[in-house]
Amino acid sequence: MLVFKGLPVSPGIAIGNVMVVDDDLRRVPRRTIRTSKVKDEIARLDTAIAASIAELNLVHEEAKREMGGETAKIFLFHVGMLADKSLINPIRKAIETTLVNAEYAVSQAFVDLAAKFMANPDSVFATKVNDIEDLAHRLLKHLGGDDRNARFRQVDPQTIVIARDLTPSQAAAFDRQRILAFATDLGGKTSHTAIIARALDLPAVVGCQALLKYARDGMAVILDGDRGTVTFNPDLASIDEYRRIKENSRLFRLSLTEIADLPSVTADGTPVGLLGNIELPEEAGKVLTAGGSGVGLYRTEYLYLTGNSEPSEEDHYNAYRTCIELVKGRELTIRTVDLGADKYTQAQEEIPERNPFLGCRSIRYCLLNLPMFKRQIRALLRASSLGPIKVMFPLITSLGELRHAKYLINDTMEELEEEGIAFDRSIKLGMMVEVPSAALLADLFAREVDFFSIGTNDLVQYTLAVDRTNERVAHLYNPTHPAVIKLIKDVSRSGRRHHIPVSCCGEAAADPEFALLLLGLGLRTLSVTSSAIAPLKRMIRSVTISQCERIARQAMSLDSDVQVAAFLRDQARKIVPEAFDGRSAEA
Ligand code: PEP
Ligand code: MG
Repeated sequence: MLVFKGLPVSPGIAIGNVMVVDDDLRRVPRRTIRTSKVKDEIARLDTAIAASIAELNLVHEEAKREMGGETAKIFLFHVGMLADKSLINPIRKAIETTLVNAEYAVSQAFVDLAAKFMANPDSVFATKVNDIEDLAHRLLKHLGGDDRNARFRQVDPQTIVIARDLTPSQAAAFDRQRILAFATDLGGKTSHTAIIARALDLPAVVGCQALLKYARDGMAVILDGDRGTVTFNPDLASIDEYRRIKENSRLFRLSLTEIADLPSVTADGTPVGLLGNIELPEEAGKVLTAGGSGVGLYRTEYLYLTGNSEPSEEDHYNAYRTCIELVKGRELTIRTVDLGADKYTQAQEEIPERNPFLGCRSIRYCLLNLPMFKRQIRALLRASSLGPIKVMFPLITSLGELRHAKYLINDTMEELEEEGIAFDRSIKLGMMVEVPSAALLADLFAREVDFFSIGTNDLVQYTLAVDRTNERVAHLYNPTHPAVIKLIKDVSRSGRRHHIPVSCCGEAAADPEFALLLLGLGLRTLSVTSSAIAPLKRMIRSVTISQCERIARQAMSLDSDVQVAAFLRDQARKIVPEAFDGRSAEA
């Protein structure tokens, strides 16, 4: 038995068998082929090479437009390698003489080549190793067909995925009947893969650092998404113990269902808006069942991450119509696409950025890809005639960006009017406050929007300079940092001053301790993942606003994140011990 510790990012316990997902070239499976199949296998290889070259030529053209000829040359280097007989002929020969599948022959040839480059004393060669791996993966992708995520739909029942890292689109493609949970070596609590895990109620542990050294396909494993542990080859006593914890946890969750239908008001009668965050339109119904009074954040970029092609205006429109029907006239805030950083499409994947969280992300990406953005805006406006929706722009850092986005909305309104298509002219437009520049200039922004939604996931990373997906700095990623609290307080105050509502839709809002602080700082709407709604409602119903305000005042007098976190924990446990029952029983 061996226990690994990581960051618990999605609660629940799963007992099952390992499936390793590893893009390490050294782990590509070897299959023996029959002599009669050698010709077919070599033909498969040649088709994949031709498809890779065609794709690289397109990528080169696009990169030349975006980055200039010199930088784009790298893709010509890749084409050159694929045309190099001294690399490709040995792969053909390996298939022919050792009767192995093309994928395995490719992986071995590229592993050997990377080793030779690494061993070369000239450091220029070592820097090319990434290129070699990149090219090998492209070739393997073409050998595997177009559906990159098919492997997540052809798995044994009771599977627990163990990976170095997973993208949000991979997690979203999981066969939920068969994949029970996942753990990764990389990743942080607010990475979008972790967010998807919570949305799908999939127990998950990330940032474990060394799972892949040990995990093998088929191994028995227990994953504990509450404590953040992954236990390989567990003994019988551990399995029994975990079955018991799992049952307790099921009963605890059941006890929360009674709360779902009760109003979300504090003990002194102040209503608190409790909304849900969703990634897929169908989740809107789940939010209401869980006791939420609407959707506070619909992350529409998942339309791009779950399909194989770019969504059309109709795809957008149909998704929004589904949401509108499911929320039945209650609040629905739809955020325009937030692609880039750790949520990228196949097209973005082709031109990786060095610092993707500081790069062409979110509203910046939309404003540079206007036809794509206009498709979404048209669909949003058309959908606004079906039921009340609000539209929110992500990652706004300057007034110029906000005005540009609003101009596109107005322009599209004129267009629709000319075409005689119905829409809601008084649709509410808001923005995420998730970058320090937006928080610092909240007074200016407040004059130009109908509402603010604070995104602590990004606000924390950009304020503290801590990558939200990097497990190595996860200990520095703390929403309780006094600088973050100060920014939230200032945004809340600006909202009050300008009479616009301010909510919080970052993951921190789902933490009952942090939610106490948010209420104390003046926020009256929280938007969280569905499974967090009931526990949060229980906390809201047990506390008074004056208690929250006292807690916020005291928290702001402390000078470190550790002190604030400890203080909030203490206060919350004193004031609402029942809100922590389930966690203390399991933790
Ligand atoms: C946030 O940054 O807090 C947020 C809600 O947006 P996302 O997690 O999608 O970046
Ligand atoms: Mg964000």
